Amino acid sequence: LFRSVGIDRTNSMGINLANDDDLRTLAAAIAAETAQWQAAPLVPGATTAAAWADVTDPADRRRVVGRWQAADAATVERALANAVAAQPAWNATPAASRAAILEHAADVMEQQMPKFIAMCTREAGKTVVDGVAEVREAVDFLRYYAGEARRQFGAQALPGPTGESNVLQLEGRGVFVCISPWNFPLAIFCGQVAAALAAGNSVIAKPAEQTNLVAHAAVKLLHEAGIPETVLQLLPGDGASVGAALTSDPRVAGVAFTGSTATARAINRALAARDASIGVLIAETGGQNALIADSSSLPEQVVKDAIGSAFTSAGQRCSAARVLFVQDDIADKVVDMLAGAMAELVVGDPGQLSTDVGPVIDADALGLLEDHAGEMAGCRLVAQAALPDEAAHGTFFAPRAWEIDSIGRLERENFGPALHVVRWKASELDQVVDAINATGFGLTLGIHSRIDETVERIVSRAKVGNIYVNRNQIGAVVGVQPFGGQGLSGTGPKAGGPHYLPRFATEKTVTINT
Ligand code: NAP
Repeated sequence: LFRSVGIDRTNSMGINLANDDDLRTLAAAIAAETAQWQAAPLVPGATTAAAWADVTDPADRRRVVGRWQAADAATVERALANAVAAQPAWNATPAASRAAILEHAADVMEQQMPKFIAMCTREAGKTVVDGVAEVREAVDFLRYYAGEARRQFGAQALPGPTGESNVLQLEGRGVFVCISPWNFPLAIFCGQVAAALAAGNSVIAKPAEQTNLVAHAAVKLLHEAGIPETVLQLLPGDGASVGAALTSDPRVAGVAFTGSTATARAINRALAARDASIGVLIAETGGQNALIADSSSLPEQVVKDAIGSAFTSAGQRCSAARVLFVQDDIADKVVDMLAGAMAELVVGDPGQLSTDVGPVIDADALGLLEDHAGEMAGCRLVAQAALPDEAAHGTFFAPRAWEIDSIGRLERENFGPALHVVRWKASELDQVVDAINATGFGLTLGIHSRIDETVERIVSRAKVGNIYVNRNQIGAVVGVQPFGGQGLSGTGPKAGGPHYLPRFATEKTVTINT
């Protein structure tokens, strides 16, 4: 069922979604998973236990799929003490040995794909297709950072005129805290953790409150693969207490964070306020992503890619298209086709293979989207997809598109299936790009054009991290399309790229008088 393709690096191929037999086998394996999972702190020596809370399915809040337990202050303290004590031995473990454990974990995770897809579906509301992509990406991160550790962590001899031996080596920084969002509960969680571990750090992982079950299963798998239990610990809990306690602690050498820009700022302030060495922050944050289509583009392809970019994963991707800028010559045609295509979107239970758009993560997310729909009341509604009756039991937002006059009208990142269309004239291309830059975000940009000069002009003017031409703008592939933004969208370095791992490490130069 599971296939891999070998170049010099290996990406997980997941399963062939076009093959009915493979799909049926996968669907049966997912259905066989009993949705009764649990998550608790994974901290050796911790003794206190908080009350259990139910986890419910975003597609049907009556369905309890598991339970979780938050870490209290004593457990946070124990985790920090364990992590400090465990790091030197892990750092002294050869990078190739650390890498071998991560690679073994990747193989096991690939074999357990149905279980992880089932968890992503029932805890995070991911469709099955999204779930396959999620597991593939997690597996890719494990393998990619393992490979990068092997490649980059050997001592490097430096030739020079001193007559001495000079060696440069990378080492782990110490205790790394990994704080992840719910929208890629397995992939981003594993990516942060794998990079920090591969570089020789001990890790305390704090997943988003909405997706503790997936994170717990991933950490158990990594322990079973050979990561010592004090080297990788899990602290479920809310950001304001557990997250803030970790990021303000002077024993923490660095934080890998993915989430909103506002939280990244709070963590930055917490790190700066400590009376300790200057902590490293690697932050990957939100976006206000645009897709620019000019009159040379193919309307059918623009609409297909706009729909895929805006509504896949119910629009809950940092890379998702939020604003479609379409040149006026083709705008009427594109808007009509967009409305027609949106009428065909199947919204519903993400566990059904026929579903295109599942629920949003929770009632808070739904409330924000409904507020946004209220703010759009004066704008032309291009289309609104239909919700099935069962949606009343879950947190569903019907995918919508509105026409607006400017991207500046959007005051925040609307994290869900909400697309906005802006028309532009040929003479306004530079102003369009400047308006996108003026949002301050710089994550993804889609371009649809058959004119090379237009593409080059946009690429050189746009201040964004990932640009996609004549295709959709989501689903960056680890090691192939390193991912991450600029400005309000993140600090870099790019996840799944060659510069990521060294940021988790410190450099040591050793000079020996021979
Ligand atoms: P979020 O609200 O910022 O939360 C992210 C994580 O930070 C959660 O684990 C959260 O904990 C924790 N947290 C909250 N306050 C904290 C504090 N004061 N100190 C330490 N940790 C704290 O973001 P989200 O809603 O989960 O995720 C959606 C956002 O992530 C969107 O903006 C999206 O664009 C962005 N994102 C970016 C990328 C990228 O690669 N650039 C990828 C995916 C998502 P609790 O929520 O559990 O309390």
